[in-house]
Amino acid sequence: MDVSKKGDRGMRVSTLALCAALVAVLVIGCAVTNNGVAAEEAAVAEESGATEMAEKQFPVQLTDEQWRSILTEEQFQVTRQGGTECAFTGALWDDHREGFYHCICCGNPLFSSEAKFESGTGWPSYFQPVGEDRVYEKTDRSHGMVRTEVLCNRCGAHLGHVFRDGPQPTGLRFCINSVALQWKPEMTEPSEDAGALEKLEAGEAEQQ
Ligand SMILES: [Zn+2]
Repeated sequence: MDVSKKGDRGMRVSTLALCAALVAVLVIGCAVTNNGVAAEEAAVAEESGATEMAEKQFPVQLTDEQWRSILTEEQFQVTRQGGTECAFTGALWDDHREGFYHCICCGNPLFSSEAKFESGTGWPSYFQPVGEDRVYEKTDRSHGMVRTEVLCNRCGAHLGHVFRDGPQPTGLRFCINSVALQWKPEMTEPSEDAGALEKLEAGEAEQQ
């Protein structure tokens, strides 16, 4: 009886030791894999300009909570989280008014109706912004594609992407989410005609 008990214990001990060894190998294996992936991601980020992006400081800086307080859920998802509205669903893809399209977040004037054209994509499309310094372009490697993301150069709002299949004179197609834009008959600087940021500041001043 004693011998058999010792044998059982011996078996249990060696099984435990084997399990511990296996766990150790798995943990070490995972750690190595994770480090490898992290290094790879860092290399891709550096190559894609994401490091440069991290250093880019837009003049308008709000917390997610502040943005949520002045944007609708859809506006927040698209502009602050890089979302995309469904084609042919936005308010501006089929808009033919003369005027200017401003950033929904900060009121920065971005595009003119004079540069708007029929792209057939279901998103408002422009061949140029109202000024090169109005937008900020950044390489976007998400969804297995390499695209150029277009951001508002004042607040960093995600607007859409720019492609090189547009009409003359630029050959560019700025494919922009309607929900990221606000149409106004005139081009107004944010200080002249309050953008969302000014509305937030005004609201906070009222509360004080
Ligand atoms: Zn903006």
